[in-house]
Amino acid sequence: MFPGVEAFARTATRLHPRPGTPSVSDSHVGGMLLWPRDEPWPACPGPHVVRTEIPVPPHLAALLMRPSAEVMMGLAERVPGFRGTMTTEAGTVILGTEVVSEPTASPLVAVAQLRAADVPDLRCPSGADVLQVLWCPNDHPADAPTGLPMLLKWRTASSVVDPLDVAPAPVVARDQDRLPRPCVLHPEQVTEYPWWQELPDELGRRIRDFDDTRGFGEDSYFSVSQAPGWKVGGCPSWEVSDPRPMDCPRCHRPMELLLTIDSTENRGGDAWLPVEESHLRTSHTDHTPTGVTVGRFARLRIFVCLICPDTPMRQSLQ
Ligand SMILES: [Zn+2]
Ligand SMILES: [Zn+2]
Repeated sequence: MFPGVEAFARTATRLHPRPGTPSVSDSHVGGMLLWPRDEPWPACPGPHVVRTEIPVPPHLAALLMRPSAEVMMGLAERVPGFRGTMTTEAGTVILGTEVVSEPTASPLVAVAQLRAADVPDLRCPSGADVLQVLWCPNDHPADAPTGLPMLLKWRTASSVVDPLDVAPAPVVARDQDRLPRPCVLHPEQVTEYPWWQELPDELGRRIRDFDDTRGFGEDSYFSVSQAPGWKVGGCPSWEVSDPRPMDCPRCHRPMELLLTIDSTENRGGDAWLPVEESHLRTSHTDHTPTGVTVGRFARLRIFVCLICPDTPMRQSLQ
């Protein structure tokens, strides 16, 4: 339908994580990482952002049912991190946030371990054949380094001769949505195509015009050109922000899309649903096998520069 687009095809490996009992040495999500016993486990010292709920006395709750702009501004001035009010059967609360320092650093949580031998699109820096992803499952202040404090550890699997048996548990994990369930993987290589604004103007415009004619539930370039779910490589989508340059902070060359952590394995439409799971067609909850949600049911994309030493990383949430 769109002659010329084939020149921009790129492969991705869908990981298809599903709850299971992964071993320490294979590729998996959650679970235990292949980690040398004598290497310190990384930890986040904080500080962290904590959600607060301030109860409102019943005689004042009526004021907050339809608050005036003046009342809302007053709350925003007085309540740190004011994010609105909420009324339930239990009463009315004012929602805010506060920044807390932690008495002790909290061990990071294993997000994924990927072996190049299992994941065809995993390109490793020279000498490495395993990628390990860890993060802190808490919210961090906006002035902290961008994104979730995350660590990418590149290893050579054969160099770990005496692996650690059990990872230290996080001391604080206030966001259960960032504690991945142990999942085994079923890697599958697929072909993807770039976001329309990252194609030559005329071609991209033709694709955009076509998509504008598609109705709800009908396949479009948008729905079939990029796979949903956790995946390695492929093309990033930019439906929230329009394309942003993801250049290496050190050498200023464009970085590569390494890993996408998705809040769902199925983003509406069943074009990418595995045939083995066609019975899940109408279900929503069955498409969140990892239990991980990032942002507001968004995708977290991790970009890397494989040329620079230390493999610089950037994150983008869409
Ligand atoms: Zn943290
Ligand atoms: Zn670089």
